[in-house]
Amino acid sequence: MAKPKLATCSLAGCFGCHMSLLDIDERIIELVDLVDLDRSPLDDKKRFDGMVDVGLVEGGCANEHNVHVLRDFRAHCRTLVAVGACAITGGVPAMRNLVGLRECLEEAYLKGPTVEAGGLIPNDEDLPLLLDRVYPAHEIVKIDYFLPGCPPSADTIWAGLRALLTGHQPALPYKLFKYE
Ligand code: SF4
Repeated sequence: MAKPKLATCSLAGCFGCHMSLLDIDERIIELVDLVDLDRSPLDDKKRFDGMVDVGLVEGGCANEHNVHVLRDFRAHCRTLVAVGACAITGGVPAMRNLVGLRECLEEAYLKGPTVEAGGLIPNDEDLPLLLDRVYPAHEIVKIDYFLPGCPPSADTIWAGLRALLTGHQPALPYKLFKYE
């Protein structure tokens, strides 16, 4: 029988959620037995071959490329999971939502205390356009499940992922998403 397929992506995140996934230690052998990995930075595969069963999304949307990738994941993943604070709320990148985009760019490239005189705001057509603010994933596409944390612990990701890959509804105990 064909294995379920898994895809993952990192949008406006720090890859910490992917690191937490890899932190499942020896259970990674079970994961490899359980799934075929499709599009993911873990195998450096850049395109889907077809539909996959579960997609894990790290990070929110800060630029047009993030939106493109997220929509591609929604179109190809039967179940889409927002993993971590950045995907669920925008997280740390969404701190720029507190000020306007122009003000944020000026602080970063023109006026900040570490900027030398004559700074320049990047404006190259090869750079993805920044959005007016950072959007959590569910404001762009429908998200089926949310795994909270910054990052969610390896146990949390494993419990949610294993349930989905084996055809069960994730029913995580409170201790797995209680953060103090
Ligand atoms: S939720 Fe935390 S660990 Fe995950 S991408 Fe965002 S900042 Fe990194």
